[in-house]
Amino acid sequence: MAKRLFGTNGVRGVVNDDMTSELGLRLGKAIGEFFGGTVAIASDTRVSGDMIKSAVSAGLMAMGCRVLDLGVIPTPAIQYFVKTHNHVSGGVMITASHNPPEFNGIKCIAPDGTELHRSDEEQIEKKYEEDVPCKPWSEVGTRDEVLGAADSYVDAVVSLVDSETIRAANLVAVLDCANGAAYYTAPLLLSKLNVRAITLNANPQGEFPGHPSEPTEDNLAILIETIKHTKADIGIAHDGDADRTVFITEKGEFISGDKSLALMAEMAVSKKGGGKIVTPVSSSSMVEDVVVKAGGEVIYTAVGSPVVARKMIDTDAIFGGEENGGLIFPDMQYCRDGAMTAAKMLEYIADKGSLQERIDALPVYFTDKRKLECPAEMRESLMEHLKKLNAARTTDSTDGLKIIYPDGWVLLRPSGTEQIFRIYSEAKDTETAEKRGAYYEGIVKDFLNSYKI
Ligand code: MG
Repeated sequence: MAKRLFGTNGVRGVVNDDMTSELGLRLGKAIGEFFGGTVAIASDTRVSGDMIKSAVSAGLMAMGCRVLDLGVIPTPAIQYFVKTHNHVSGGVMITASHNPPEFNGIKCIAPDGTELHRSDEEQIEKKYEEDVPCKPWSEVGTRDEVLGAADSYVDAVVSLVDSETIRAANLVAVLDCANGAAYYTAPLLLSKLNVRAITLNANPQGEFPGHPSEPTEDNLAILIETIKHTKADIGIAHDGDADRTVFITEKGEFISGDKSLALMAEMAVSKKGGGKIVTPVSSSSMVEDVVVKAGGEVIYTAVGSPVVARKMIDTDAIFGGEENGGLIFPDMQYCRDGAMTAAKMLEYIADKGSLQERIDALPVYFTDKRKLECPAEMRESLMEHLKKLNAARTTDSTDGLKIIYPDGWVLLRPSGTEQIFRIYSEAKDTETAEKRGAYYEGIVKDFLNSYKI
């Protein structure tokens, strides 16, 4: 089998170290051979975006592809473009999402706009390893710049929310684009929805100088502070490629992804009077509590947005998403969509009022998260050991091992791509969540130590 290049979110690396123009060119050829025909390409705001995009584009053209360069746009905007243009056979997004500025990445998009299947990535990896021969000189492809993909994307989002209600609410939002790909689309979206935007980090110069582009509470300290001083109704923050969105309440409380997932799920189920919601086993039980109460049903999957999207298609789900702020709205497309998430949350508060009050009304759970080093070759035997140990308990093996308690759960899960073992423990109080997390950390450590040479 060919060497694995694609991780959970495309091929990533440090620019001019392991993410080089040579890699871009050769991978571009492999992608071009795989897709053929017309291929869309775009990038986020990283300084290396043009270099990697040019290298991949050259590879695509060497294989005879017509390249459509959409410029700097969010990942969901190129996904929407690929989905809505039937003559486009696939897409390539140059992004490393929330990673630091020295990173960049190459991510492939299937003809329907979804993230490429792993089996298709394997085919591309095989072609990369073979270093496929180029087409004859007379068959090389061309490159065109295509303007307007960002505007069409924003228009589509506006058309899929209750824009009249949002416009009438005269909302004020503090918007943090992390100097990433949302720098143009996010302010445009808010202006089309008559939301007054106070923008932070909306400069596309590519160096991410404002703060690291992972939208965590620590990284959003200035956004949180700004909300407290502006009487804004909401804070909205995107990650580097704007497929994810996190929110801050009008009081300045950072909202965890589980909570916004729960609110959006509740809204979807209430509007449709029922329906299926898809989320990974790692999501808080709070989601299931509100969904069941509203008359819906939760379907659990393994961790990872492509798995969630696939399950949504298969089960005709009305909404889905992950606890990291990546939410999927099937009316728009089957992928994480930062602008849709922002617009839907604006619709929610335009309709319901104070976001803080809605957050305070959610069921309360506490989560204890731990991360241990675990050699890849130990994963299987460790999981066997944990399964044996918990044979008498109620468990779920959708992804790793989830042990169900009457008042919570513990998820034990090795990472598929890194030498890491994760322990998530959720309970109704902090002490119980921590106690169970610590208990399993001890068990995992003892097991790994006992096998150390
Ligand atoms: Mg992202």
